[in-house]
Amino acid sequence: MKKGKMIILSGPSGSGKTTISHYILSKFKKLKFSISCTTRNIRNNEKHGKDYYFISMNDFIYKIKKHQFVEWEEVYPKLFYGTLKKEIEKIWESNQHVLFDVDVKGGLNLKKQYPNNSLSIFIMVNSINVLKKRLIIRNSENFFHKNQINMRLKKVKEENKYAKLFDFIILNINLFETKKKMIQLVSNFIYTK
Ligand code: 5GP
Repeated sequence: MKKGKMIILSGPSGSGKTTISHYILSKFKKLKFSISCTTRNIRNNEKHGKDYYFISMNDFIYKIKKHQFVEWEEVYPKLFYGTLKKEIEKIWESNQHVLFDVDVKGGLNLKKQYPNNSLSIFIMVNSINVLKKRLIIRNSENFFHKNQINMRLKKVKEENKYAKLFDFIILNINLFETKKKMIQLVSNFIYTK
């Protein structure tokens, strides 16, 4: 199997990971997004096979049993997310590198399995209020119920403890600055051997 590189973006929900990953994908044609499987419900603005593969719990369990995931996590109670081995293989076969947007444990798991060809970046925000605001804005778009916001905020403290285990931490205060730093990190990584 062909082997390329991988960039792992992790960080709490609301840290800006998704915005950053869309930006990076638009700038580097060599990068392709790894589409994960999830058991959560599809949101209005999402497409199956583009944002996620939305699958049933039974299907998810079947894939675990068949060892089809390179990593998977119960990211929130009863909500499962996982990366398929064949997703990575497909991207490498097409001569591209992989970009992951995964939770902190999944990110560290990938880093451990691919220590020599991965770049792991933790996106951090300096205040829980900023996160809360972002999640509430999303909520107004009907993304989350209130208990889902609280569930995500509760997780942040625990997630931040793992930040130092990543190759780089980016404090996302100013999106413009964050994008600039990301461009630097990503180009250094993908254009050097
Ligand atoms: P959301 O439901 O907001 O799309 O994502 C919730 C969390 O799940 C985010 O932190 C996202 O990065 C993470 N996530 C998405 N796909 C995967 C995956 O394949 N594995 C793991 N471990 N986490 C994932």
